[in-house]
Amino acid sequence: MDHGKPKVFAAKRIPPEALAYLEQYCDVRSWDGDGPIPRERLLAALADAEGLLTSGDAIDDELLARAPKLRAVSTVSVGYNHFDLDAMRRRGVVGTHTPYVLDDTVADLVLALMLSAARRVTELDAYVKSGRWERGQPEAALFGTDVHHASLGIVGLGRIGERIAQRAVHGFGMKLYYHNRSRNPEAEERYGAQYVSMDELLGESDFVVLMTPLTPKTERFFRKEHFDRMKPSAFFINASRGRTVDENALVEALATGRIRGAGLDVYEVEPVDPSHPLLAMPNVVTLPHIGSATAQTRRDMALTAARNLVASLRGDEGAYVVKELRS
Ligand code: NAP
Repeated sequence: MDHGKPKVFAAKRIPPEALAYLEQYCDVRSWDGDGPIPRERLLAALADAEGLLTSGDAIDDELLARAPKLRAVSTVSVGYNHFDLDAMRRRGVVGTHTPYVLDDTVADLVLALMLSAARRVTELDAYVKSGRWERGQPEAALFGTDVHHASLGIVGLGRIGERIAQRAVHGFGMKLYYHNRSRNPEAEERYGAQYVSMDELLGESDFVVLMTPLTPKTERFFRKEHFDRMKPSAFFINASRGRTVDENALVEALATGRIRGAGLDVYEVEPVDPSHPLLAMPNVVTLPHIGSATAQTRRDMALTAARNLVASLRGDEGAYVVKELRS
């Protein structure tokens, strides 16, 4: 152990390459238990830590008070809704995340949700595997909806949204609408994206994809009035965070046939309750918050997070500091 190196705690398992990188510069202790670290163990581990590598742990006042030496928190994710930004700012703790490395991987999964929901892939997979496919059945009962040349509305056309746009427009010939708080002129030029109001986006889109970060402004931002404005034939896709949506309103829109179907990677409470009504709906494709989870991308994210932590502690350039905490 080198006493000159800053002490850091890795609250999640990271691949050997990322751990080796961290160990070059830091005195590293890691959580090696199964599953997420219990809160009390995390707080105890932070008593003398200057850096923390984490993914979903709430970085709030309580934690910061128990971590008097903490200078940097690096999350292995692009979303950082678990950061209490005010508390971190007050205590001068830097927060970093992992943008860009996962954009294509998450975009692939969003397309998978769109295709699965529209072409009923999971529903029909279950149909075949359960032996219900018999000769002479009316085929029309199995028909789906076209994705190609349909219209797509992205709410939150940022880094990941642009990679979805690229696939949808250049691959599937889709017409693209988007709604952000501010315009994205590059995306308008590259993908012919039309900047529209929420109302217009909901009224025009065959697929509505929610891709905003979870912030106090986007918490339960998508609600009944939005589902009510969607086309009855449209699909709702959420790969942002579950809490951006009023889930009861989503259940109601699906149960009443107000919308055609949904593709979900995220839920208000995760893991989702096995008795949740969404899980019993054949027109809903449900994934376990798996958007960035390919082996390669998770390795790249861990390495980016390790580099972020080292750069932040050394005061080097190049760490992806979250925008609200940039000085
Ligand atoms: P990003 O580049 O920051 O893009 C987010 C977009 O949302 C921006 O274009 C932003 O535009 C827009 N936005 C923010 N607040 C808004 C509001 N109140 N109303 C309308 N638009 C708003 O982020 P990203 O890298 O694409 O990631 C987006 C989110 O995806 C992450 O924060 C994370 O929660 C989620 N995610 C999920 C998975 C998964 O596994 N399912 C994986 C990775 C990421 P304006 O600022 O102009 O409004």
